[in-house]
Amino acid sequence: MKTISVEKDPTLGGTCLNVGCIPSKALLHNSHLYHMAKHDFKHRGIEVGNVSFNFDAMMKYKVNSVKALTGGIAMLFQKNKVQLVRGVGSIVAPNKVEVKGDKGVETINTKNILIATGSEVTPFPGVTFDEKQIITSTGALSLPSVPKKMLVIGAGVIGLELGSVYQRLGAEVVAVEFLESIGGVGIDGEVSKTLQKILVKEGMKFKLGTKVMGVRKEGSGVKVDVKAAKGGNKETLDCDVVLISIGRRPYTKGLGLEKVGIALDDRGRVPVNNKFQTTIPGIYAIGDCIHGPMLAHKAEDEGIVCVEGIKGMPVHFNYDAIPSVIYTSPEVGWVGKSEEDLKKEGRAYKVGKFPFLANSRAKTNGEPDGFVKVLADKATDVILGTHIIGPGGGELINEAVLAQEYGAAAEDVARVCHAHPTCAEALREANLAAYFGKPINF
Ligand code: NAD
Repeated sequence: MKTISVEKDPTLGGTCLNVGCIPSKALLHNSHLYHMAKHDFKHRGIEVGNVSFNFDAMMKYKVNSVKALTGGIAMLFQKNKVQLVRGVGSIVAPNKVEVKGDKGVETINTKNILIATGSEVTPFPGVTFDEKQIITSTGALSLPSVPKKMLVIGAGVIGLELGSVYQRLGAEVVAVEFLESIGGVGIDGEVSKTLQKILVKEGMKFKLGTKVMGVRKEGSGVKVDVKAAKGGNKETLDCDVVLISIGRRPYTKGLGLEKVGIALDDRGRVPVNNKFQTTIPGIYAIGDCIHGPMLAHKAEDEGIVCVEGIKGMPVHFNYDAIPSVIYTSPEVGWVGKSEEDLKKEGRAYKVGKFPFLANSRAKTNGEPDGFVKVLADKATDVILGTHIIGPGGGELINEAVLAQEYGAAAEDVARVCHAHPTCAEALREANLAAYFGKPINF
């Protein structure tokens, strides 16, 4: 197909690449290395003297990582003959897009339109972000210095990842969460509790079951009024910077959907059928602006099958096999159902668990925290969910996704030869425990 991509921002790659997954991973990885050098190297026999960090240089590294990847997309566009039109796109008729850019208005006539406009930060009622002291994740990725005290509102994925970065770099971090658990939607309860224990040991503080009543600047700091979610006394917390990470919402502002007769659902999402078609023929939508988890890899895969569908090929998308990862240390990764999901569904399931403490590689590497938990159907042994907290959990989960996508039983994974010594053996042992009732090495 002849393809035109319309983009309003100066660089390509959207939220994930510019102000999301990629810059946060640069800061997470390098702050982790600093933390290791400062607190962990010595007992491994590595002596590096007095370890310190240069925050400006760390930020520069992050900027360069982003620059390299956004530039890479521009090159891929050229190589694959995708034409880029810069400006704000608006659908003015089912086959017509108007783009307002620096050079005026350009009209594009097209057979198909694919909406992939993503999401934006959910605002907090009555709070204006200045991105200096009252910040979203975007501000947290570009602070000029490490704050003394950072308050995080919302202990979901962003709160835990960016909270970890600043805690490792020396900030006192307190996360205020409305729910009684951390990690956001879909995380298994046992994993969530384990992660909280580990992060608390590292120095992060949590105020769970707590409602935020107001956020205001006072003097040189910020004051946050909170109250127990189930009712109770009001308390005021002080900080230098408050990061608000209470979720994201679909971004469809100015897209002109109403002009062509596409009505958003009750959560502001673009309704689509299982071929990603909107109610208007020739207009499709994928990613954060439709249903499902707001994850870059989910959007990427939806985009591929949606376009295959436009070309007349079959469209299949398995929402039960999308991995979630929280890039803390240790990493958390999961796919499929949690124990809480299965209990709610009343499904009979069996549990296979294996601790990294009993995995030779994790133990030798000095990373024994965490476990793998496999949930399989009690009658058929088919894997329903896998939950990992531990070394390389974000990489390891992909093996579990492969198994789940191909409808594997726990026995299938348990009988696959795994290289020794690797952390992946813990996944095999957890599957063995689910299938056979007990693992070998624990
Ligand atoms: P989230 O949904 O993960 O977490 C939001 C948290 O805020 C929840 O725990 C919720 O209970 C809490 N909350 C909501 N309102 C609150 C209030 N008033 N007071 C206190 N707590 C409140 O959302 P997020 O962390 O903002 O992330 C946004 C999106 O970005 C998510 O969809 C996430 O999947 C995506 N993201 C993914 C990754 C990753 O895959 N590693 C990383 C960053 C962001």
